[in-house]
Amino acid sequence: MRPSDLSQEQLSQLGFLSQLRHDNFIDGQPCPSRSSATTQVIDPATEMVVAEVPDSNAEDVDLAVASARRALHSPAWANMLPAERERLLYRLSVLIEEHGDELSALETLQSGKLRGIARMVDVAGGAALVRYMAGWATKLEGQTLQPSLAGPGDVQYRSFTQREPIGVVAAIVPWNFPLAIALWKMAPALAAGCTVVLKPSEETPLTALRLAQLVQQAGFPAGVFNVVCGRGHSAGAALASHPGIDKVSFTGSTAVGKAIGHAAVDHMTRMTLELGGKSPMIVLPDADVQQVAQGAAMGIFFNQGQVCTAASRLYIHRSLFEPVVQALAEIAAGMKIGSGFDAASQLGPVVSKRHFERVMQHIEAARQAGARIVTGGEPALGGGYFIRPTVLTEVHADMAIVREEVFGPVIVALPYDDIDEVVALANDSPYGLAASIWSHNLSAVHRLIPRIKAGTVWVNTHNMLDMALPLGGFKQSGYGHDLGRAAVESYTTLKSVCMAI
Ligand code: NAD
Repeated sequence: MRPSDLSQEQLSQLGFLSQLRHDNFIDGQPCPSRSSATTQVIDPATEMVVAEVPDSNAEDVDLAVASARRALHSPAWANMLPAERERLLYRLSVLIEEHGDELSALETLQSGKLRGIARMVDVAGGAALVRYMAGWATKLEGQTLQPSLAGPGDVQYRSFTQREPIGVVAAIVPWNFPLAIALWKMAPALAAGCTVVLKPSEETPLTALRLAQLVQQAGFPAGVFNVVCGRGHSAGAALASHPGIDKVSFTGSTAVGKAIGHAAVDHMTRMTLELGGKSPMIVLPDADVQQVAQGAAMGIFFNQGQVCTAASRLYIHRSLFEPVVQALAEIAAGMKIGSGFDAASQLGPVVSKRHFERVMQHIEAARQAGARIVTGGEPALGGGYFIRPTVLTEVHADMAIVREEVFGPVIVALPYDDIDEVVALANDSPYGLAASIWSHNLSAVHRLIPRIKAGTVWVNTHNMLDMALPLGGFKQSGYGHDLGRAAVESYTTLKSVCMAI
């Protein structure tokens, strides 16, 4: 069945969906799965099935890893000059932009996100990131070192380090920014000279499969980039524990990240883990009420709150508590909820029925535990997985709604009285991905930044990710980084050379 509410113009952009069934992409071409099991891709706005992809098994993963390993050692890739890798990545970025209408429509269809956000973040941001990483291909360097080694006789020593590609990379990504996060991993990996097997989320495989075609069209050798679809416990687990991979780069929940970490240690596979968050937003007494309310709304309702760095805990100085909560609730209550294809929509559906039920259960449990629902707290519209933007107060630091990642349009607001108290509250979390501070008191802000245990701290803004700024978590939010120089270097291994002359 096709989604019935798409316009002719929108459907015509989805030529990729002229067939319902899609194969994996291995060794430069579509590759039918060895498994007969499939997963369905469902439009969360209409609950209609839009595509079917393989639920791949270990044999499919073997094929993909073998393809990536062959490509890694093939003269076409292994001997390719860095400037040529840069050129191919640049060409890929152009193709992503040229196919931006189609890619953003696919992204909205499979994840429910607003089309404008898909265009701006996944497509334009993704293409910019690919260009940024293209530039790094020619700039990876080691150091010349002055050793203190002596003799025998008049022997002297020369030493230097060099960076080499780490090898075959398994990239396992979630459904909230399917194309963008796939690019965050594959672009630096290819810039560094690695090859990649990507496993997209079972909910959102379509842009990954389309990306594989564009990678081929850009001129990369076959096997350099492969896509294996399937569920986490089947395809994902087989890939993460495969002895043929040299690095696993994972973005997803902390629970799965830990399982992947355990599997990786068995083979000493290198890893980057970008995991969950429960990011605090700290409002100091001098902050501007309207600016904070707008910032909190963007911080939590952007992408339906399905953002690892979402501002899900709002700590407001008691002097501003009532006006900020009221202003935020007014913004939330006035948001237009609807399909991501409707340009007027400000909030789309969450990704799946399962996730919709999970978010609603969190809200219900909080209500039963004594939380006050200031606004929202219920489903919106008739069908589809829509949830009203929700603001909760009268919550306590030990409630699940304050401690656990909800990953939906749900924010808890708590008052505080002094700075030591808010530092303790903000840091009282197993997570440490991001935080924001809202104030124009420079001295207070600078004193606060080092006290916050989070990989990213924003000031008077939230959720602003930049391709040059490394993104990584403290504590159980993971380790290693996506984005920036730190990311591309994480796909290399450092070799030390010492020569007696
Ligand atoms: P998830 O952990 O359920 O799944 C992520 C990916 O892992 C999917 O492709 C899934 O199929 C796969 N997977 C699941 N079980 C697996 C297993 N046992 N072995 C190998 N792979 C397995 O997460 P999700 O629900 O898709 O995404 C939401 C989560 O992602 C949230 O926790 C969010 O905070 C996190 N996230 C983090 C960042 C970051 O940069 N830190 C960015 C985006 C999302």
